Amino acid sequence: MEEAQQVRALLKRYPSMFKSPELLDVYAGWVPPLVTLCAEIDDLVADQSFVFQFIQIKKKLGQCRIHFVLEQRRSDLRTDGALEKLDRCKKSVQQCVEAAQSSCASRCLVCGRTPAPPDRLMPTPLCKMHRRSEHLRDPWSLGKIRLEGRTDA
Ligand SMILES: [Zn+2]
Repeated sequence: MEEAQQVRALLKRYPSMFKSPELLDVYAGWVPPLVTLCAEIDDLVADQSFVFQFIQIKKKLGQCRIHFVLEQRRSDLRTDGALEKLDRCKKSVQQCVEAAQSSCASRCLVCGRTPAPPDRLMPTPLCKMHRRSEHLRDPWSLGKIRLEGRTDA
């Protein structure tokens, strides 16, 4: 799967963001927004010498949920100015994360196409074709990306 390679490339390119890849539940349809998000965060964080890390990426009620921490380097002084700067950076990162989450919400979890209209019984965004995979209990499992170090994926 091409998306799996893209995710592995992200892990390799930004190792400090992905210290716990076992806590990532990533689906193929989410990959392009995640690639954009990582580049945006890298830009925001790089020259400010803050440390960013994804804590968890998961599917909750069918939607992509991204949790992160953003901290000062341990060696840096916690002056008021530095904390204010951190706070501003955190807000910018949060905006990028929210944009990525909403972008994921408008993509089929498996293939990234436009999802079928929301369905009370199936809140997970899936295109018509993947929603019709009725023989599968969890059609989105088709898009689940296997990462090293995971046993359940
Ligand atoms: Zn699809």
